[in-house]
Amino acid sequence: MLAMLRTADLQSPAIPLLRAMWRGVRGRCPNCGQGALFYRYLKVSPTCPHCGHDLDQYPSDDGPAYFTILLVGHVVILPLLLFNFIWKAPAAVVVPVVLIPLAVLTLLALPRVKGAVIGVLYTLRVKRQDAALHTTDRLE
Ligand SMILES: [Zn+2]
Repeated sequence: MLAMLRTADLQSPAIPLLRAMWRGVRGRCPNCGQGALFYRYLKVSPTCPHCGHDLDQYPSDDGPAYFTILLVGHVVILPLLLFNFIWKAPAAVVVPVVLIPLAVLTLLALPRVKGAVIGVLYTLRVKRQDAALHTTDRLE
């Protein structure tokens, strides 16, 4: 498998990881930081409108949903359960008071997390065409 990696893949990334992730969080192209990463809510632009970088080649798949659930679940829901009103107030009050802000927070976080994941994939040079290298499909 190592023989299949190109020499360019082993070189240091053109853009450092945290900078590429931050560009993704801002909804910008991880390559130039100028062009829009998304053309709709979670739809990745096929190419960067500023530099022409192929943005559709990064397979973020379920990663953003997983990390968003991890973030919202551990940072918000777990501490929320420590407040006594959650357990004592009627469900008709708790459900809208908790679920509506939770849904808004999740929907706000999801594109930012997806941008960060694409930034990681950009820096690590993980591309859709290399998917077989990252799974056991290649072993069959
Ligand atoms: Zn760009």
